[in-house]
Amino acid sequence: MSAVDGFRKSASATRRFAAWAMAATLLVNLSVIGMIAVMSIQSRQEALNDATRLTENYSRILEVSLVGFIRTVDNTLLTVVDEVNQQKARGGIDDKTLETFLRRQHTRVPEALGLRIVDALGVTRYAVGEVLARNANLSDRPYFIRHRDDPNAGLVISEPFVSWISDQWVITLSRRLNNPDGSFAGEAHMTVATTQLVRMLARLDLGPNGNSGLWTSKPTLIARHTRADPAGARTGATSPSDQLREILASGKTTAFYHARSGIDGVARQYHFRRIDGFPLFAIVGLADEDYLADWRDDVRHLAMLGGSFAVVTLLFAWLAHAAFRRREQSQLALRESEERLDLCIGGADLAMTDWDVRTDMLVFGDGWHKLLGFKPDELAPRPSTLAGMIRAEDVARARDALVQHLKGDAPMFEAEVRMRHKEGRWVWVLGRGRAVERAADGRAVRVTGIGMDITKRKQAEAEVERLSQWNELLLNSAGEGIYGVDLGGKCTFVNHAAVAILGFARNEIVGRNQHELFHHHHLDGTPYPAEECPVFATLHDGIRREVEDGFVRKNGEAFPVQMTVTPIHEAGRLVGVEVVFQDISRRKSMEAELMRLATTDALTGIANRRRFLEYMESELARVKRFTDPSFLLMMDLDNFKNVNDTWGHSVGDAALQHFADVCRLRVRQSDFFGRLGGEEFGIVLSRTDASGALQFAEDLRRSVADSPVQTAKGPISLTVSIGIAEFNPGDETPDNILVRADIALYRAKAGGRNAVVLDTSAVAD
Ligand code: GH3
Ligand code: MG
Ligand code: MG
Repeated sequence: MSAVDGFRKSASATRRFAAWAMAATLLVNLSVIGMIAVMSIQSRQEALNDATRLTENYSRILEVSLVGFIRTVDNTLLTVVDEVNQQKARGGIDDKTLETFLRRQHTRVPEALGLRIVDALGVTRYAVGEVLARNANLSDRPYFIRHRDDPNAGLVISEPFVSWISDQWVITLSRRLNNPDGSFAGEAHMTVATTQLVRMLARLDLGPNGNSGLWTSKPTLIARHTRADPAGARTGATSPSDQLREILASGKTTAFYHARSGIDGVARQYHFRRIDGFPLFAIVGLADEDYLADWRDDVRHLAMLGGSFAVVTLLFAWLAHAAFRRREQSQLALRESEERLDLCIGGADLAMTDWDVRTDMLVFGDGWHKLLGFKPDELAPRPSTLAGMIRAEDVARARDALVQHLKGDAPMFEAEVRMRHKEGRWVWVLGRGRAVERAADGRAVRVTGIGMDITKRKQAEAEVERLSQWNELLLNSAGEGIYGVDLGGKCTFVNHAAVAILGFARNEIVGRNQHELFHHHHLDGTPYPAEECPVFATLHDGIRREVEDGFVRKNGEAFPVQMTVTPIHEAGRLVGVEVVFQDISRRKSMEAELMRLATTDALTGIANRRRFLEYMESELARVKRFTDPSFLLMMDLDNFKNVNDTWGHSVGDAALQHFADVCRLRVRQSDFFGRLGGEEFGIVLSRTDASGALQFAEDLRRSVADSPVQTAKGPISLTVSIGIAEFNPGDETPDNILVRADIALYRAKAGGRNAVVLDTSAVAD
């Protein structure tokens, strides 16, 4: 089986195990979760059943005590009605007797605030208890109206209202009084504070958030009790929950329901009960929060238990999986190494040796046949056989390596040697060996080794060596500086010429960033940013460049170079550039000299006519672009022919040089001075107005007149005539200006010489 197959098989076994472990873990966890869910649902239902039963019991208790209370009140009222009727039958009511009677009746119902008798007109005739208000008119009270209009009204229980007499919520329970003929004689009623009823409700223990309530059929809340509202402050509320409203409308006598209270918003399980025989309804509710508290704790515990179970089982599954995987992998690794060994030993390219040091026997493996052409039985099984086949120059090297290993100084023996093939040619062999068994004193007992044909590699290495020597030769014989740069901008090689030109040693250049080392400044001394370096540009875009540039020698001297940057590609990939450069200082200075000669007047050293006209051209262009004026001064020495004729041509030349010197002293940096030919000169005055130009010309004229030429033959006076013309933006060429200046000059000459004349033709335009 191959390693790849083994790997595949192992991987699929690991995957199967992982899937199986995961599925089993999930199944167990799912069933645990299911069990927990079923248990939770069941216990919640039980808690709900308990709560429901409890509310029903409580509402029954409430009904019993309410009915008891109402009956007591009603009996009292009926007794009062009887007494009033009897007294009437006896011939009339005796006020005192009746009041005494009433007082005694009131003591039977201490929960009531008071007891009153109202006549047929609604006027309070008798009153005992806390609510006296005798003579108060109660004819507008609904219960009064009810009795007046309905002889069979029976016991009437009022809606709760705030009594204006006692200023608290009350209800009244009343009975009609009749005259002997059956007509309406008034009513008797007891007033009960709703707080009294709240107290009755408070006797039920409904837990921290439970509540009980008493409603009229309207529905209006008569009394309500919760721990949060022990005084029953919500009396008079008319906002039952929708569920309660529905039950009231349905006419049911008892009902269970679950609702969020219309008053405090708490969710509760309620029992509803119509109070037997009266238009009153009681509700008793246990808050979910209370009756489910134990259940919630249980669920939390179960969930924690379930969670822990899941964590433990998953952890176990993961550990099992990891252990299984480790075992699989180690088995696979073992198989692979076994296979490698098979491959090595069986491979015909390796020639094995096994040397028993004690007997000095050395066994040759089959591989030697392919390596050197000898069959194992053709080779005497001795180490000396092996040594004898090694080329004489290599023997010492191989022996040293072997001795080092045998002494234990090297972990293994390794040597590259030439060995003679049976056919007589030399084969490069890499020999490697190791002592696989050593005696107690550390001496090697058994040494195994291999030999491997490395002739091809050696030949390639030799070829590379030969080529690099050749390259070196080429590089160093070139007169131009040559260096290589890798993609990181570092020099990879540099030839002799480059070293000589730059002044750095070879090792100061190789490995360094060429731009930082000798390309950091332009020829004019300004810094040369790396982003503008053509070498880096070619490194970036692979495009060959030929440029004139400047390098900086080690001594800091900048010099001009002509350089060619050529990209180097290897296997189609840009790996660096080669730079070939020449020091072009001499060429540059020759060019500069030629340029100077071409533009300078040899006698005076100032600009010649050609250069002067060029300058005039650029000045005219400037004047056309900007508005500041410029002027041309054209100067011609007066009667110069006489100087030549009188003193000779060389004195004439000296006079011309003298004149040029005088002018040079006066000319500003921004002005331009040149010789137009013969003894004719020109000055361009930039950014000067007419008066400035005139002033300048006049000063110059005077200083020429005042400074005679000093010659061996004594001082010679010179004068000059000057014509001035303005650069006019309308001028097409400098010739236009020259013509105008010439005319002005002619006029200066005509006027007697040694004079300045400003051309006004252009101004007149
Ligand atoms: P004008 O006042 O009318 O200018 O009189 P001029 O004698 O100066 O007359 P013109 O300008 O015609 O004469 C120029 C003379 O300058 C002629 C020539 O001999 C002399 N000259 C021209 N170039 C040179 C020169 O390079 N060296 C010397 N020594 N003389 C020169
Ligand atoms: Mg002249
Ligand atoms: Mg002249």
